[in-house]
Amino acid sequence: LARNPGEFEFHQAVREVFGSLDRVLERNPHYVQASILERICEPERQIIFRVPWVDDAGRVQINRGFRVQFNSALGPYKGGLRFHPSVLLGTVKFLGFEQIFKNSLTGMPIGGGKGGSDFDPKGKSDAEVMRFCQSFMTEAYRHLGEYTDVPAGDIGVGAREIGYLFGQYKRITNQYESGVLTGKGLTWGGSLVRTEATGYGAVYFTQHMLETRGRSFDGARVLVSGSGNVATYAIEKVHELGGVVVGASDSSGAVYDPDGIDVALLREVKEVRRDRIEQYVAERGGRAEFVGGATVWDLAGRGPVQVALPCATQNELGEAHARALVAAGVIAVAEGANMPTTPEAITVLREAGVLFGPGKAANAGGVATSALEMQQNASRDSWSFEHTEQRLAEIMASIHERCATTADEYGAPGDYVVGANIAGFVRAADAMLALGVI
Ligand code: NDP
Repeated sequence: LARNPGEFEFHQAVREVFGSLDRVLERNPHYVQASILERICEPERQIIFRVPWVDDAGRVQINRGFRVQFNSALGPYKGGLRFHPSVLLGTVKFLGFEQIFKNSLTGMPIGGGKGGSDFDPKGKSDAEVMRFCQSFMTEAYRHLGEYTDVPAGDIGVGAREIGYLFGQYKRITNQYESGVLTGKGLTWGGSLVRTEATGYGAVYFTQHMLETRGRSFDGARVLVSGSGNVATYAIEKVHELGGVVVGASDSSGAVYDPDGIDVALLREVKEVRRDRIEQYVAERGGRAEFVGGATVWDLAGRGPVQVALPCATQNELGEAHARALVAAGVIAVAEGANMPTTPEAITVLREAGVLFGPGKAANAGGVATSALEMQQNASRDSWSFEHTEQRLAEIMASIHERCATTADEYGAPGDYVVGANIAGFVRAADAMLALGVI
């Protein structure tokens, strides 16, 4: 901790993983002898750079860019870019650290990395976003490559930003290297299902958790936080499986819609128009209601809730929210976002016997489908929606199975936190050992 002062989210993420590892280290003292813990929480490389760009008024703006190349024992660094004013080095390090174990859990050949900037795309024109992305890539390109480091999207980085970033990479390197970024558009190297993958994957994972209790989404009332990429497609899949999502949110407030969120309208408002969620209520009419300044968890008192899917940002679901969800009868909570549930809230949920799917397992469908996009790029192929979704479904089933059997093996049946942390750690640690002291 002393070596990384002020990086609170990074400390939280490390504590969360290391908190599960006692039993592994007891059984495998060679990890301790090889200082794997000390090594795994030190990034292989951290790049911090200036991102200057000119706004529409002709003023020079300066942002800070980051790429943390955390661990490449299993494959090229892989992880998204986040553009949000709250981004600090500690944010990127927590996300990069999580990414090592998440990517390991997928069973695919991808290492862990993450990046981003404190740039805020909100309220910026398309031209400003393009100039920012071009400037970001003008520095970042030298650290990337399909065999080196392959970024994707995250908060504030969707198909538009990936397009501008890819365009600049192509222009500088004079190579159409499709595999250097994932989340690309379908006509220029992207994969079907990548847009939907994280949200769909989180719902598949939850479905498998529910099955262990003989339950399903059918008829379940569900709360989903956020209304971005992950949230939108989680809502869509819950509805396909017969559940009803009665609440969603953005950073301005929450929407309560007892008849079920209308995904087409939500996409139109948030994805197409980049508007605030209040506008959804204005156009939805009926019983939908906007609660300004609220989080979606504040809606837990409005009726029973069987499933909660935090899909917005870190530490958004706190202890009081967890208690409200337990009182509302929640059976399962699965993290679509990275580290959205505070440690205190996780304790409340686990003590109440709620099924809890940690992000590194539940939201791994996004990065797994990015790896499928890399496979398609490498073979100059593009797969059908059905085939790709089938692969995603199989990967989520195998991640669930890996977490469940590892938890059993280490004496913590049903504990997906222990199962995910140990299974993710062991695969990455074994690769690090095999590669020697590097
Ligand atoms: P988007 O930018 O598409 O959406 C983010 C959503 O969360 C928006 O509704 C946003 O509201 C809300 N939000 C963001 N920050 C805050 C905040 N500080 N307080 C309240 N609400 C906030 O991002 P994604 O959907 O891609 O990412 C959501 C989460 O999922 C992140 O934790 C990300 O790391 C994780 N994730 C994403 C993957 C992906 O494939 N995209 C893969 C795996 C994990 P507003 O519109 O008001 O900003």
